[in-house]
Amino acid sequence: MASPSSRPADPDFDPPMIAWPPEAELARFRMVVVNPFLAVLGLMAWRGAMRALLASEMPPLAVLGTALLAGLPYLIHYHCLDCGRTGVLPKCARHACSGVVTRWRMGRRPRFGWPRPATQLVVWTWIIASVSLLLAVTWGSLGPA
Ligand SMILES: [Zn+2]
Repeated sequence: MASPSSRPADPDFDPPMIAWPPEAELARFRMVVVNPFLAVLGLMAWRGAMRALLASEMPPLAVLGTALLAGLPYLIHYHCLDCGRTGVLPKCARHACSGVVTRWRMGRRPRFGWPRPATQLVVWTWIIASVSLLLAVTWGSLGPA
């Protein structure tokens, strides 16, 4: 008996060979919304923990606490507008649901050129930094003494 890889494909019994797009190619057809608010909450908790560690009798633990920042990207989530899946942002580049692949096969890019996750993250960073600065000035923590 021949192994499946050595015999020619039988179109009646074998499933059709489907071309799968490369991940970089799919990025242009993916429609995801980035949600950084859990990361903002984690950053606020990290800041509070670092302040407490620096004020405690064990400030060297604060150095170890900076290692926790490596997990910050895993607190940023994406939400796919095609299938509704939510996941962590580092795995967004591998997300390929049927809606994305269908759009790639048809060569139909999202209307208005949907912004990539990195672009959305930059926009969110500017919005959150602006609101934080506005709140700090309003509440007087950055105002004149
Ligand atoms: Zn999806």
